Amino acid sequence: MPIRLFNTLTGEVDLLVPSDGASLRMYACGPTVYDYGHIGNFRTFLQIDVLRRFLKLSGMQVRHVMNITDVDDKIIRNSSAAGLSIGEYSARYVEAFFEDIESLRIQKPEQIARATEHIPRMVDLVQKLSDIGAAYKTDDGSWYFRLAAFPEYGKLSKKDLSGMEDGARVDVDEYEKDSARDFALWKAAKPGETSWDTAIGCGRPGWHIECSAMSMEYLGDTFDLHAGGEDLMFPHHENEIAQSESVTHKPLALHWMHVRFLLVDGRKMSKSEGNFYTLRDLLLKGYKASAIRLALISVPYRHQLNFTFEGLTEATNAIERLRNFNDRLAKGAFPAGENPEIQTAATEAQAKYLAALANDLNTAEARAPIFDLIRTSNTAIDQGRFFENDRVAVLAVLASFDAVFDVIEDRDAEPTKRAIAWAEQSGRQADVAPELFARQSLSDEAIDTLVAERTTAKKHRNFARADQIRNELIEKGVIIEDSKDGVRWKRK
Ligand SMILES: [Zn+2]
Repeated sequence: MPIRLFNTLTGEVDLLVPSDGASLRMYACGPTVYDYGHIGNFRTFLQIDVLRRFLKLSGMQVRHVMNITDVDDKIIRNSSAAGLSIGEYSARYVEAFFEDIESLRIQKPEQIARATEHIPRMVDLVQKLSDIGAAYKTDDGSWYFRLAAFPEYGKLSKKDLSGMEDGARVDVDEYEKDSARDFALWKAAKPGETSWDTAIGCGRPGWHIECSAMSMEYLGDTFDLHAGGEDLMFPHHENEIAQSESVTHKPLALHWMHVRFLLVDGRKMSKSEGNFYTLRDLLLKGYKASAIRLALISVPYRHQLNFTFEGLTEATNAIERLRNFNDRLAKGAFPAGENPEIQTAATEAQAKYLAALANDLNTAEARAPIFDLIRTSNTAIDQGRFFENDRVAVLAVLASFDAVFDVIEDRDAEPTKRAIAWAEQSGRQADVAPELFARQSLSDEAIDTLVAERTTAKKHRNFARADQIRNELIEKGVIIEDSKDGVRWKRK
């Protein structure tokens, strides 16, 4: 099935194919590790995860490279305020990032590239830019990109840069829209700052040159797809294009994907508005990692997502439906044979699901046929019109749904446990929802023991004890279900 994805560069929904006929080479801008990731960052990483999982589900090979910006203005400022080296300072946030993406079931890219480990490559690129007159050195020893040397500047963000001032410079990594200026490639060392002694002087790279150098190092001069949050389109991606294409005279990436940022309760997320959430904030409030994943991917990447707690509750309920249904099929016994109505429903659901994702990754439209299939199947099971072959067919659709959405298997205990341990280590115990402590107080083994004791008590007609155990478990967030196949329990 052809896969189409909106391309910021062409302004069209273009076919996405591996240009070398083998594997799709993609680069995604990774985190700047100066703080914990917030849900806006994770929406971007999750949508890129949806893309890579769908490409793989479609049989495509993927070579995905992601950078880690472990040197930049903020890291330098914060680390010196904390009296730490930039390596010491960023280490905890690098670790936190990998923990967080694991919690959200975001697959690790094939290649992770840390900026501080690729300095020679960046220096080399600055030298090449200097050789062709596209870079110049200032009196303080910094290097700048000469915007006038790249007439195509602005082609990605479609900015009108006619008012641009020739030779005006900006030395910060991030800057306001409409202030397109010569930007820093290399910043001369300031006293006390981490720096590298190189052929172009003593200093450290600017943010933009990192991505140009590392993407081309691993993926070649031209690769298939470059992805990132919409806030990176200008100036970051525009600058990457200018730096790379000035040297190679080839397109840096054929396809550019930008994920829109989210709103929280209809407003821009900001610390001062009190609506700023990291992943950890939400886990400590008692929301499951799977629900956060589903809430952040269910709105297609090009649409603004309005993040609300009602939305998280809706995602929690949707996952409950998926898991209950999956359990019903996995553990139930069905008579041999098949119901043609279910067979057709399964085939259609699968086709609609794949078609929606192939159409610019429409995750909302992809979800709908799966829930329709669950309804149809549940009705058929209730009426005794569901057979072994139906079970196989419907489970296959669920598996293909979960290859991308990845929320059916319950792996929610671990992220919550980790978040609580982190809160305890960092003096944030007060932020842990009280019911989470209660839930964590029982291990799986302890629950099994209590459930067995309850079964024995019932057998001996000691109903008072049986009820007491049931209530104790409910209080600690464990639900017991008695069925004809025995007793099952699960955490709320
Ligand atoms: Zn980047």
